[in-house]
Amino acid sequence: MRETGSPFLYAMQSVLAILVVSAFGVGSAALAQNTGKILLGDMVGLEAQQRFSDDTLFILPFGDIEFHGPAAPFGTDNYNVGELAERVARRVDSVLLLPIMPFGITPPEIMRHAGSLTLKEDTFKAVARELLESLISHKARKFLVINGHGGNTKPLKEVCAEIEKTHTDLFLKCTFWIEYAPDKDLKDLFTVSPAGHGAAREVASALVSRPGVVDLKTIDFSNFPGRDTIWHGKPEEASKEKGEKIFELAVRNIVTMLKQNGIKVKGY
Ligand SMILES: [Zn+2]
Repeated sequence: MRETGSPFLYAMQSVLAILVVSAFGVGSAALAQNTGKILLGDMVGLEAQQRFSDDTLFILPFGDIEFHGPAAPFGTDNYNVGELAERVARRVDSVLLLPIMPFGITPPEIMRHAGSLTLKEDTFKAVARELLESLISHKARKFLVINGHGGNTKPLKEVCAEIEKTHTDLFLKCTFWIEYAPDKDLKDLFTVSPAGHGAAREVASALVSRPGVVDLKTIDFSNFPGRDTIWHGKPEEASKEKGEKIFELAVRNIVTMLKQNGIKVKGY
């Protein structure tokens, strides 16, 4: 393909853009923010560079691929954490959302089910550490790590603690998403606890985050093996409406936490 724009024209356009922006007192970070993009993967050219400032919150979602019982899909933790991370990102003034890290640490009893995938703990921790270190090397200073899978929680918190020891100037919040939608606040929605692997909380959330994949009416819950060992509770009580309430609660609590930590947010 023939190159169309000349480097000189491009340079002049950049200078003009900077002059216009300066005249209205808007900085380069604000210029990039005005594009409305929130995904690091969508950044083009120098847009990413403009976002790497003290003001930007970098959101890193972590999930897993694993068997989830009769109702929740294998990608439940990725779908749910991705949905939550994006909803939170849309509430933050200056933000970049990283792609979901889709592979986590799956316990041996779940690895027995075909389709479950796992990383060794050292591998997983190295990935988390190196992603954060990459961002830090570009001068990112504010981070929200949102984890969607229980087996990742402890290793992620350990990595975050290590990073905080070597970089003392960071805001680095390492969260497990269900901490922000606690059982006590959901008890009116379900007759038994919705907590646990493949249970109603995960299924209800997946009905929102991955619509069309789960059809509760077609599942024979009473004869499906592994209840209370591999999967828990009453996933049959899940509904999209309940899933929406779970996401609304989690987003509200996370955004409130961010605001309390000095992150500029919208609508709260
Ligand atoms: Zn799960």
